[in-house]
Amino acid sequence: MRPLLLNPLFAPVTSLAGVGPKQDKLFRYLLGREETPRLVDLLLHLPTSVIDRRMRPKIRDAVQGTVVTLEVTVDRHRPPPPRNPRAPHLVYASDGTGDVVLTYFRSAPGYVEKLLPVGAKRYVSGTLQMYDGIPQIVHPERVVDETAFAKLSGIDPVYPLTEGLALGSLRRAIAQALQKLPALPEWISPEVIRRCHFPGINEALHRVHQPVELTDILPDGPFWSRLAFDELLAGQLALALVRAQLRRPAGNRHAGDGHLRRKIIDALPYALTASQRQAAAAIAGDLQQPVRMLRLLQGDVGSGKTVVALLAAAAVAEAGKQAALMAPTEILARQHIKTVAPLAERAGLRVAILTGREKGKERRELLAHLEAGEIDLLVGTHALIQDDVVFKALALAVVDEQHRFGVRERLALTAKGEAVDVLVLSATPIPRTLVLTYFGDMDVSELREKPAGRQPIDTRAVPLSRLDDVMDAVGRALAAGTLVYWICPLVEESEAQGADHLTDATQRYESLQKRFGGQVGLVHGQMKGAEKDRMMAAFAAHEISLLVATTVVEVGVDVPAATIMVIENAERFGLAQLHQLRGRIGRGAEASTCLLLYREPLNEMSKARLKVIRETTDGFRIAEEDLRLRGEGDVLGVRQSGLPGYRIARPDVHAQLITQARDEALRIMKESPKLAGERGEALRCLLYLFERDEAVPLLGAG
Ligand code: ADP
Ligand code: MG
Repeated sequence: MRPLLLNPLFAPVTSLAGVGPKQDKLFRYLLGREETPRLVDLLLHLPTSVIDRRMRPKIRDAVQGTVVTLEVTVDRHRPPPPRNPRAPHLVYASDGTGDVVLTYFRSAPGYVEKLLPVGAKRYVSGTLQMYDGIPQIVHPERVVDETAFAKLSGIDPVYPLTEGLALGSLRRAIAQALQKLPALPEWISPEVIRRCHFPGINEALHRVHQPVELTDILPDGPFWSRLAFDELLAGQLALALVRAQLRRPAGNRHAGDGHLRRKIIDALPYALTASQRQAAAAIAGDLQQPVRMLRLLQGDVGSGKTVVALLAAAAVAEAGKQAALMAPTEILARQHIKTVAPLAERAGLRVAILTGREKGKERRELLAHLEAGEIDLLVGTHALIQDDVVFKALALAVVDEQHRFGVRERLALTAKGEAVDVLVLSATPIPRTLVLTYFGDMDVSELREKPAGRQPIDTRAVPLSRLDDVMDAVGRALAAGTLVYWICPLVEESEAQGADHLTDATQRYESLQKRFGGQVGLVHGQMKGAEKDRMMAAFAAHEISLLVATTVVEVGVDVPAATIMVIENAERFGLAQLHQLRGRIGRGAEASTCLLLYREPLNEMSKARLKVIRETTDGFRIAEEDLRLRGEGDVLGVRQSGLPGYRIARPDVHAQLITQARDEALRIMKESPKLAGERGEALRCLLYLFERDEAVPLLGAG
């Protein structure tokens, strides 16, 4: 299947000279692979900086702490004395302006003498340090004679390494891999090559690994950009190919005549917003199409995604099929069923809930009903994907807050039916570039308007030193009958593991209880489901009015009467998380206040985050700022500065290229959806090089 041309690149690294089992292990670790890496993996491991060996000062002028190349004459050796073999081997050298000491620890006998013969001239590169007032280089990176020096390029790439792996041995392996690089065909269209001024792939790989100019390895330079585009194009093309396969068997449509939907809309105590109506219409349209739905419904917390999901489920039920709604937590699943059940009942839609808490006979009966097709919408947690959960005719999978689930869970749920349509709900608005990167041309509906009657939230940052004032203010609010959230980051000391400043929720609960008595409650992640629910219900019913909570209240929990939220250690939370948390208030008709309690001093990042969260409640803007401040990793809940799953493309530097790669992939799908012909063959090479070949078997023969 793989183009033969690529074979040399898919040879194991252990086929290279100097790469044995020990290196194999180090390379696996470095390149994040379970199996022995291939040459292509080495070639896609790009340098992060360079050492400029053209810096050749005299010893007298050499700046300490910098990498220098000195031209020296070797004066004398001082090997370790026999009684102290652990002492370093010192070599004294000079250049007429001063002396330098070259230091070797634990070198093999005779090695240093051979490398640096007394009286010889040598070029020595390394980081210059001062030791006892004398310039010194410990373990010079490179020692060469005049002839060898003449052959060296002045610039050496520096790669990310792992403990035990020397830069030199990685460089040597990569240099060998480069020699095996076959002449690769061009897979990018001439127009894009021209517009972006891209060099060829072979030139790009050579220049990043053997830079000629200092700028050759910059991520926004032509060589790295070309490789980033290749990586993004491979991703976009693979998504487009998979998507093209998601055709539904003819005649198998998933939406009915609208009678259930009309009943639900009639039963609503409010009018749908314009964007809710648009989203519901778009979904209904998708369900009618002969192509499977893959749609993202984005909207801030409180924007009313649940009712849109319910309408989608109703459309499916009208056609005699079933829907599932999977939420990431027990609390959320219960919240959904609470919103959905009364409306569903009025419309005659049969709903049920399945989480880890449904057990025994109750669970068995529920599963029997499900398999008999007597449940139209099953709401639940990941308990839904257990093997014994069998649907009669699952046609729609709604996945709430999808970034908390892996793709695996999503697939497991869709595998429970045939040609299942997928609706993903996200309360963390995902910037367009990220949607593209991970879902390709997934359709997106956005709920940008807040339901009518919502009040703005007044957000303020308050230093912890003013805790007493905050307590007083909370006291006044409680006396006036307000419901208050008090959010703390952690439950127990033991969880903190070195994060010593974090306030313990239990401790805070105790101190608040001391002051405000029985109206204070506590809910945290280590409590049992039933206990949590009881506490949340007590809060919603106003039996308690101050709820101390960890981030379990983060998503979806809906108590419209709560209008004050204190977030302790706010500087520790990410932007997306702060936004999610704050979304618990401002849900009713009353104005709300959010107090961000922070511990001083604030670092720049925390300062910037608190500023953004104070300035806006627009989740889409917050997501974009988050992206800008920390890189995308965090938006998806993965702390990482690059794009998870991508080795070369960077969200900040290559954002422009993402849409260009998408457009290129769309053009390819239009012109040659089976990747036929010479260009098609080149594109197959691309897919294999970047391991996006899972769609290739779907193409059939050329
Ligand atoms: P999300 O899941 O997007 O965070 P929900 O679907 O939980 O938001 O809706 C939040 C609250 O807003 C619920 O109490 C819901 O009944 C209410 N709601 C939804 N749509 C509207 C609307 N169009 N007008 C008024 N209230 C609405
Ligand atoms: Mg929700």
